[in-house]
Amino acid sequence: MSKFEIKVGNSKIKLNKHFIEKQDAMDNLDDLKSCYRQKLEIYNSIIVDNDPKQFKEFARLLTNLENEIQELFNFEPNVNFHRFWETPKCECPKLDNEDCHGVGIKYINPKCKFHGEEDE
Ligand SMILES: [Zn+2]
Repeated sequence: MSKFEIKVGNSKIKLNKHFIEKQDAMDNLDDLKSCYRQKLEIYNSIIVDNDPKQFKEFARLLTNLENEIQELFNFEPNVNFHRFWETPKCECPKLDNEDCHGVGIKYINPKCKFHGEEDE
């Protein structure tokens, strides 16, 4: 396993070495890997957990992690660049969000247990 890979259960992420170099973030590699490991662990928890009450908390933790990852890549934390729709079981429209990524427009399915409205 390369030092840029993170594996949790059956999920695996490989970080982009060239991107890390471009962002001058190689000193943060261990912290980045720790953040991505936590992200995969949360994804795995979501897959096995069917308690919707937990989902808002998972969404909050993922947002915090995304901000931390951006900082470790030497970016300003910016929620407009979070790929929140990639969360397992997220019901927000993926293609629309993909198209508008980074411009500050979010397509939220009100029924999404992570990003939709608070409990009715
Ligand atoms: Zn969602």
